[in-house]
Amino acid sequence: MLISLHDALAYAEEKNCAIAAVNTPTFEMLLAAIRTAERHRVPLILQHAEVHEPINTIENIGPAMVELARRSEVPLVVHVDHGESFDYVKRGFDVGFNSAMIDASVLPYEENLAVTREVVALANEYGYGVEAELGVMPGREDGRTEASAQALYTDPDRAESFVRDSGVTALACSFGTVHGLYRAEPHLNYDLIDTLRSRTGVPIVMHGGSGLSASEYRDCIRRGVRKINYYTYADKAAFEAAQQHVAENPDTFTFSPLTVAATAAVEENLDELVRVLYGL
Ligand SMILES: [Zn+2]
Repeated sequence: MLISLHDALAYAEEKNCAIAAVNTPTFEMLLAAIRTAERHRVPLILQHAEVHEPINTIENIGPAMVELARRSEVPLVVHVDHGESFDYVKRGFDVGFNSAMIDASVLPYEENLAVTREVVALANEYGYGVEAELGVMPGREDGRTEASAQALYTDPDRAESFVRDSGVTALACSFGTVHGLYRAEPHLNYDLIDTLRSRTGVPIVMHGGSGLSASEYRDCIRRGVRKINYYTYADKAAFEAAQQHVAENPDTFTFSPLTVAATAAVEENLDELVRVLYGL
């Protein structure tokens, strides 16, 4: 069933856990994510990032996400991830997404706020939640992160006024995670999460959630992270399973068995994530 971003975050607050927000640009990722949520009977966020348009457009994969979410017995949110414009978020709502992230974080503060306010006004018409981002996290959802990239930590003063003036449901903050693969040890600023949570009064979203240790996840959750975006390591698990299938079956000459192997591998990968995030 579909639930709102607000209700998913309220569940996380009550259980002192974080909701897994998984990018599902392919049908294999989508099936694996829903099966994992159903196995553990937990809410989960299915999301599509604008940067994944070359894999599948939101008009193509989106209706499948919405339909499978509606059919499922577990509560699911269908969320636009890193919408870079008002128009992209609108495209998501038009195909049935019920939540969105507007990411205008590369723009100067005032412009980021203006775009975010427009998206919040649109979402309010439907009763949908909005996540926005303040502070720039290195890397993108396509997994190509530069080793030299430095995070710009979110400023708590700015975060407080941004949330107050925009009316967002949740805030993606930069506190030491990076998108994509970690090529060096992450340096997480836990005290900053505490400060951001108390100053903004809204749940904090972690991007670049792939590749942290179980104890790092738990420490972030304890400080008020309630949504954790996850993709790269699941996609990597899918690739490795396909590669292994080819190595073990040198006579294979069709593609579909690779998708079966990949789906199973993503399920296994997400299973581990969900156990940590929901404290199961
Ligand atoms: Zn992100």
